[in-house]
Amino acid sequence: MNIGIDIGGSHIAIGVVNYKNEIQLKEEHNWTESEKINFTNSVENYCKKTIKIISEEKNFIIKKIGIAYPSRNIINGIIYEKNKEICLAENLSNYFKLPVYLKNDVKCSGMCEKKIGNLKQYKNCFFMTLGTGIGGAYFYNNELVVPSKYQGFEIGHMIIQSGGKKCRCGRNGCFEEYASMRVFRKDVENLLNIEKLTSDKMFKILENKQKENEIEQIIENYLYYLSIGISNIINIFEPDAICIGGSFSYYAPIFIEKLKQKVQKIFNKREIPDLIIAKYENDAGIIGASMLENN
Ligand SMILES: [Zn+2]
Repeated sequence: MNIGIDIGGSHIAIGVVNYKNEIQLKEEHNWTESEKINFTNSVENYCKKTIKIISEEKNFIIKKIGIAYPSRNIINGIIYEKNKEICLAENLSNYFKLPVYLKNDVKCSGMCEKKIGNLKQYKNCFFMTLGTGIGGAYFYNNELVVPSKYQGFEIGHMIIQSGGKKCRCGRNGCFEEYASMRVFRKDVENLLNIEKLTSDKMFKILENKQKENEIEQIIENYLYYLSIGISNIINIFEPDAICIGGSFSYYAPIFIEKLKQKVQKIFNKREIPDLIIAKYENDAGIIGASMLENN
């Protein structure tokens, strides 16, 4: 058995994954406000405590641990944040006496989709998540492309609107300020004057009001920017397929056909890659992390 850990800013999930890449057991936890304050310590302590309980109580023999971590500042499994080195993988490795690997979360989800999900049949392909932000992973000749220093393929920060909206990275006009689900959700919430829409409610609103002018306009606008970003990816990488994961996949029935039409329009009559939706939703991070064989 391998352990896969999917770490997020508000939530952590630890799964025991068997050799068929099936999750045998899963423990989940939402960070409390006090745990968020000393986040790295909270993560390490929760992992130590939970994995110990899992392996002792259930008698699982653990071979290795993989971690999907939401940061783009990762070099060789070490997280660099605010001028601090966070050696989470090394600390867990010393504690459990097991190999522990750590990669950017989007790369882990992409690996899951590439090995056992909807990208399985494509040799050269691109995986992107559309959620709070936008991230990417590129596979060439069936292998994840790994740059020499950081994790790479941070497509969320390619600029698609010069002098546009301010991004958390400090620049203006980044792709994720126009095409992340966070931005889309905010636009719908602002229009309807509702705070914090649940995914189910949002789906119903989109489904029922799709044809109403203002909602239609938000969807059009969102897909317009998304299609620009996707056309950039196609022009640079020329993948055989682009697979979209993250919370976007939940709304795929509403978006995907329109998105395909918009991307096709950009390329005129030229053949475009298959645009597909991820097979594994919430478990992709855990399964992908459990597959890691290096940092
Ligand atoms: Zn940015």
